[in-house]
Amino acid sequence: MAGVGEFDIIRDYFAGAPTGESVLLGIGDDCALLQPPAGSVLATSVDTLVAGRHFPEGTDAAKVASRSLRVNLSDLAAMGAAPLWFTLALTLPSADRKWLRGFSHGLLETAREYGISLVGGDTTAGPLSITVQVTGHAAKPLRRDGASVGDAVYVSGPLGAAAAALPVVERKRKVDAELQQAAEAAFYWPEPQLQLAQSIAPLATAAIDISDGLLADLGHICRASGVSATVDLESLPVAALARELAGESARELAATGGDDYQLCFTVPAAQVPELEQLNSGAVRIGTLVDAAGEPQVLTRWRGQSWSPKESGYQHF
Ligand code: ADP
Ligand code: MG
Repeated sequence: MAGVGEFDIIRDYFAGAPTGESVLLGIGDDCALLQPPAGSVLATSVDTLVAGRHFPEGTDAAKVASRSLRVNLSDLAAMGAAPLWFTLALTLPSADRKWLRGFSHGLLETAREYGISLVGGDTTAGPLSITVQVTGHAAKPLRRDGASVGDAVYVSGPLGAAAAALPVVERKRKVDAELQQAAEAAFYWPEPQLQLAQSIAPLATAAIDISDGLLADLGHICRASGVSATVDLESLPVAALARELAGESARELAATGGDDYQLCFTVPAAQVPELEQLNSGAVRIGTLVDAAGEPQVLTRWRGQSWSPKESGYQHF
């Protein structure tokens, strides 16, 4: 940000954040100095949220901050990685203190909740945009290409809430205050499945977080692993909020709606009993089968083959 203000912003809103013991030197120098846990593999990922495209202009700053960090943490969960550090590149139209206070509060509260340290960033002037880069470490990384024919397909928890909440969040649909709050929570405070990821990682062969929709994201595992999947729609855990907001369409939203940030993962048949013993809350939704040509997700509803009207978020 041109001269005046940049260092004040960093000092007042970001520099005080507590850091873990893996941070030898945090915010304030040219680079952070970081000490990864001995013998670990690092997992890193970056995401940008642009105002007017990924969230409505004028959205409460704390909500934007929470969501931007949570979606990145979800990518770590999807790799079976535990959080270590993140950086923040912030482009701001102006040094609006009220906005910055809300943003830094939402961001650092989320960071504390999940034990991730803010170790650096960049602050510039321009149209509002937020880039968060996260790094974590994994003992056994969960890649998309590790699944095999015969593996069981699981999802970590209820689906469809965020997609059902979207029209409410965008104020295209009016509901009572309680439902409005539940919708905003589902959309802006998704829970990255970090703990579940740690518990299933030793058993799982592949994982992905559900950002674009279950069928679309499971399709990524299928293509990367060269297998097809059969999914029974009856077995999908449908979020209560999705049922409340979308009624009959809730099940379709659970299959195709994005933004829930639950995990979809695969487990070899031989490990299924051990997985079930974890009582993780994960639900089996299908099985991987021979791709016989083109990897695809074969969906069934009451014994009939079923295809969605839409199958996932289109970015462009
Ligand atoms: P440089 O000119 O070396 O890039 P900057 O002036 O951009 O340094 O940043 C000074 C210090 O503040 C650096 O340690 C940088 O990582 C940190 N920093 C800048 N912006 C942010 C931000 N939005 N959040 C966290 N740390 C930041
Ligand atoms: Mg800089």
